[in-house]
Amino acid sequence: MHTSAFQALEKAAVYVPLLVQEQDLAKAIQGAQALGFTGLNVTVPFKEKVIPLLTGLTSDAQVVGSVNTILFKDNKIIGHTTDGAGFQQAMEMELGISPEHKNFLVLGAGGAARAIVHQLAKQDCQVFITNRTLQRATTLATGIAPTAVRKPIVVEQEFSRLAEVTKKSHVIINTTSLGMEATKDQSPLPIELLNKEHQVIDIIYNPAETLLLRSARELGCPVQNGVGMLVWQAVKAWEFWWGVTPPVQAMYEALNNSLATR
Ligand code: NAP
Repeated sequence: MHTSAFQALEKAAVYVPLLVQEQDLAKAIQGAQALGFTGLNVTVPFKEKVIPLLTGLTSDAQVVGSVNTILFKDNKIIGHTTDGAGFQQAMEMELGISPEHKNFLVLGAGGAARAIVHQLAKQDCQVFITNRTLQRATTLATGIAPTAVRKPIVVEQEFSRLAEVTKKSHVIINTTSLGMEATKDQSPLPIELLNKEHQVIDIIYNPAETLLLRSARELGCPVQNGVGMLVWQAVKAWEFWWGVTPPVQAMYEALNNSLATR
């Protein structure tokens, strides 16, 4: 994605994958700073572990407790998270959804859910969270509550309670890993709870269409997979590093081409 954006703009920059062992994390960050890198992206499993190694965090990274983008500037190492803003921008661009006055049902309470719930709850909307491990959903809701316009509501995974909340929800978002290759025959929500009024987003991008998304599409629901979030979190990272918006279309094409050849 980044390489195609550099090429489109004839920007003299490179973006490379770097494999780091956990015991070398601090040396890797300091090394990148010493070598004059503009910044880094950080992914699983280091999104939380990098935090003590940084000199500052943006307010979003602070609330979410996770960093996917680092900026080296004026001898400082600033951590930021672009997952939530990337998610929202993709949702607005692809499905035309803005959060105000909507009810969202978020399936899952892991790292991605934290970023998405924080982003949504900054606006005047109601977020419901359900998760296999209920305590994790409660911890997420409690952590987000101080910055939320409306406190997220935790929903037990009991069928009638899920049915009631699903019926009230305008947008359903899967943030669990259920539906990826190893669990491709499973849905994070009983399919019979969907109706054609729902808008359904699955942040999984490989496979491009999970069982949840296929079922929703077949019912006639507008659907969106995880490609948009992946592109827009990268766009937001670029904006954080350079203060300009990269050519988004070139990034979508590069990512879709890469996923198609997997
Ligand atoms: P994570 O922190 O490990 O969270 C995983 C979530 O999935 C938890 O809520 C977990 O529930 C749930 N889960 C896992 N296996 C399950 C099962 N068998 N049954 C029910 N629930 C299950 O992972 P993450 O970083 O949030 O990532 C989650 C997914 O989002 C992954 O598929 C990842 O690829 C995708 N993602 C996409 C983007 C994008 O840009 N499109 C960005 C980030 C992540 P428990 O709490 O009960 O374990």
